[in-house]
Amino acid sequence: MNNTTLSKFIKDIPNFPKEGIVFKDISPLLASKEARESMTQSLIAPYKDKNIDVVIGIESRGFLFGMLMADALNAKFVMMRKPGKLPGEIISQEYQLEYGTDTLEIQKDSLSSRDNVLIHDDVLATGGTAAAALSLVEQTGATTVGYSFIIELDFLKGKDLLKNPNVHSILHY
Ligand code: IMP
Repeated sequence: MNNTTLSKFIKDIPNFPKEGIVFKDISPLLASKEARESMTQSLIAPYKDKNIDVVIGIESRGFLFGMLMADALNAKFVMMRKPGKLPGEIISQEYQLEYGTDTLEIQKDSLSSRDNVLIHDDVLATGGTAAAALSLVEQTGATTVGYSFIIELDFLKGKDLLKNPNVHSILHY
């Protein structure tokens, strides 16, 4: 499937979760086996020869394709979660939201300093979440090879907040 066909599996939901926001719903993409397979291949394409050891999925929609990508790259899959969800020793990173702050966490022993990491989430919006994910990986000493998103909202310029130049998104709006 080409990107135009893949884009038909994303549904625009106006005024969700708030008035004035057009939410990109990936549910139709999840429902189709053919579209899932095609999206997974597109997501990993730039990273096939990059010796990725670990794919990190950001809670919660980043888990869905993150796992499929890890399978396709023969890599480990690691969850990056909202606070208080992961057991054991964890590392936390707080980040700024439009109003207030949020936090992401990772298990300390889930990455080693030798790991090449690919960070995945469904949507890159302002970039706050993805920047926090990069900072968490840095704290473990592992190397972030790049990012991979299904959707990038170009007008929010999230890319500018990311220190890593390898940002690959399949669909742009
Ligand atoms: P950011 O931190 O502003 O870049 O927001 C990215 C996070 O918000 C990601 O974890 C996304 O899952 C979520 N997000 C933002 N906008 C949308 C959307 O339109 N559809 C689905 N998720 C979104």
